Amino acid sequence: MICEMCGKEAASTHRIEVEGSVLRVCESCRHFGTLLDPLIAPAAPAPMARSPGRAGTSGPPPTGRRRTEERDVFTEIPEMELAADWGRRIRQAREARNWTPEELGKRLNEKKSLVLKLESGSFRPPDSTIRKVETLLRIRLRAEPAPAT
Ligand SMILES: [Zn+2]
Repeated sequence: MICEMCGKEAASTHRIEVEGSVLRVCESCRHFGTLLDPLIAPAAPAPMARSPGRAGTSGPPPTGRRRTEERDVFTEIPEMELAADWGRRIRQAREARNWTPEELGKRLNEKKSLVLKLESGSFRPPDSTIRKVETLLRIRLRAEPAPAT
């Protein structure tokens, strides 16, 4: 295999991301980007702040999609499929109205701490709360149904 960075023949290559594009590079070139192969742990400490500015923001981190197995904790079983960024949608809608988390909590009849948990995506509320939030903020938190083919 040929390293796409230095052009040398390499016994094995690694996939790295450099400024948004994926390259297959040799062992000695892999530290020029972010290693994508999840199986290989980077030997050297991650070279942070190598590129000026934050070019490689590839979407939000995959949080909030954790399916809880302890379903009997809730009296109501959550059935709605939420959008991946539902927490962020709440925060953006709240900020668009210039409401503090406290104020949103008051309108939802919930605590401020719950609002913050919702916005960080760390707490998946029961569907009744989802409906309340959607109605109050006039947003949709549910995932769009898959388009028919
Ligand atoms: Zn190389």
